[in-house]
Amino acid sequence: MSRARTPPVAGGAGGSLAPVRIVVCVKHVPDIQGERSLGEDGRVVRDGGDGTLNELDENAVEAALALVEARAQEGDEVVALTVGPDDAVEAVRRALQMGAHRAVHVLDDAVAGADAVGTAQVLAAAVRRLGEEAPVDLVVTGMAGLDGLTSLLPTLLGELLGVAALPLASHLEVEGGTVTVRRDLDHATETLRAALPAVVSVTDAANDPRYPGFKQIMAARKAPVTVLSLDDLGLDPALTGAAGARTQVLLARPRPPRQDRVLVQDTGDGGARLAAFLVERGLV
Ligand SMILES: Cc1cc2nc3c(=O)[nH]c(=O)nc-3n(C[C@H](O)[C@H](O)[C@H](O)COP(=O)(O)OP(=O)(O)OC[C@H]3O[C@@H](n4cnc5c(N)ncnc54)[C@H](O)[C@@H]3O)c2cc1C
Repeated sequence: MSRARTPPVAGGAGGSLAPVRIVVCVKHVPDIQGERSLGEDGRVVRDGGDGTLNELDENAVEAALALVEARAQEGDEVVALTVGPDDAVEAVRRALQMGAHRAVHVLDDAVAGADAVGTAQVLAAAVRRLGEEAPVDLVVTGMAGLDGLTSLLPTLLGELLGVAALPLASHLEVEGGTVTVRRDLDHATETLRAALPAVVSVTDAANDPRYPGFKQIMAARKAPVTVLSLDDLGLDPALTGAAGARTQVLLARPRPPRQDRVLVQDTGDGGARLAAFLVERGLV
């Protein structure tokens, strides 16, 4: 991923700048609106075909596309990257619909059972492989996977790639070989800056993801997706999958239904009965 040239990215068109490559990590997750269940091993059941692109990754794709569109330079590239089983290809297809130029899917049975570290190993190996073709300037991720919700991946990726990781950006700018992000925290706003290449995760406040039109949806259907195995990446399978997991699910069970629920049927006096209920419990 490392590179010597600067500046790889600058805002606005004009001048002849070196092409920029941004890798966006997109995760395929079970549809959170649908039924979700855990297997006997405590892991999320991912079969069933109701998966979707992790909604928070649409912000990552949008951020990457906005950066290259602002430059309007020939040769810039946004590469969508996913790691996951067969269905995960839907995540990169969605990114293609939004405007990503290229899609890469790491597909290998040996990845099954990977925890956050194991997933980061695969993503980092894929970014390194892409970097062998042409330098990668920036890796952009979403703020969290809506199924795993660890928010660990961006920092792990930075560490494994040996570059700075700037998590939870609500605004990002890339100019003159550096990336600058704003982080809106509860009691403060931070501005962080790092030299490229770097890893940035963006929050859902960073932008409003575009909605692809019919033409883009149809074009993305036919677009090629590069499928890579761990062997292609030169990654030792022992570093990922169940074999390389550093965490283990000891117990996972559905929360028992609440016993103390009171259902108030509104027959015209619902408001009064609700108020009486709250008063009786000392809640108002
Ligand atoms: C003990 C354990 C067992 C697990 N077993 C399995 C399993 O059997 N099968 C399975 O599929 N998952 C499994 N997982 C979950 C899987 O390893 C997760 O992908 C990983 O833990 C990180 O997910 P997250 O959503 O918490 O990442 P976060 O750090 O919350 O994600 C942040 C961002 O990183 C990027 N990202 C995350 N994951 C991917 C990905 N796979 N591809 C591309 N970009 C990504 C996205 O941009 C995302 O917005 C397991 C997790 C644990 C802890």
